[in-house]
Amino acid sequence: MYEYGIDFDAVAAIDIHTHVEVDSHGHRAYDDVLVEATGKYFKMPQGSKGVVAGVDAVAEQYRQHNTAAVVFTIDARHGMRHAPNSIEDLVAGAARNNDVLIPFGSVDPWQGRHAVHRVHELVRDHGVKGFKFHPSMQAFEPNDRAYYPIYHAIAEAGVPALFHTGQTGMGAGLPGGHGIKLRYSDPMLLDDVAADFPELTIVMAHPAVPWVDAQISIATHKANVYIDLSGWSPKYFPAQLVHAMGRQLRTKVLFGTDFPYIQIDRWRRDFDTLDIDPAVVPLIYKQNALRVLGVASHRP
Ligand SMILES: [Zn+2]
Repeated sequence: MYEYGIDFDAVAAIDIHTHVEVDSHGHRAYDDVLVEATGKYFKMPQGSKGVVAGVDAVAEQYRQHNTAAVVFTIDARHGMRHAPNSIEDLVAGAARNNDVLIPFGSVDPWQGRHAVHRVHELVRDHGVKGFKFHPSMQAFEPNDRAYYPIYHAIAEAGVPALFHTGQTGMGAGLPGGHGIKLRYSDPMLLDDVAADFPELTIVMAHPAVPWVDAQISIATHKANVYIDLSGWSPKYFPAQLVHAMGRQLRTKVLFGTDFPYIQIDRWRRDFDTLDIDPAVVPLIYKQNALRVLGVASHRP
């Protein structure tokens, strides 16, 4: 059972988006073809091996940076026809490293009633602090009402739901993109969910290329919708997003890397080159995430 051990006043930042894609039994989240293609897309220096970072390794990395990190994997057993790495194992690892890590759960929406049950179980028995979805990998339309009982359960638990949006490095360059459909990650599908669940905090992960304008509109319009800045080097952030970050979205954008695909040092170095109001920087690195996670201030 995970419980917070993070001194939120002392940490410099909160990374809202990191991946743990191998468990302590060595089981990986995805098949080898996908792992290798994704490593290439992100030009990972270590090649595909770099994609594999166990939960303790992630913790050590973030501890050195005095930064807390949300860790998750994706249960896409239906869409990817591959069993996920163990979420129980991930949560246990986060509990072991509760001075820096914050575990999110994941459920496969195709599992219907079982997915709803799993939400309750992961919150109640394991202490997860949010849920990660990847509509393209999980092959589901997030605004289909069939999945609304899942969102209802998450909203009831009072934790946020984070959805991958936009293009994905997963399957990039493979025939048929390895069967992965980008359309499911159109942020406009989440506008429906945000309207129907005003009490549910939704994070649209990544600059949602090629739908960034839509994403900015949604986050501007819906008080319960945020954007995480992971998955892209800030060097490549679309200009209109950088503009909005310093203005109407200053309380709605969150620091995130997509570790290990993007490393923390690189993200910060490239972020420093952006022309952003200095008053907004601490909001992006920490304050906005505290609100999303529902921990205004917390000492262990
Ligand atoms: Zn990611």
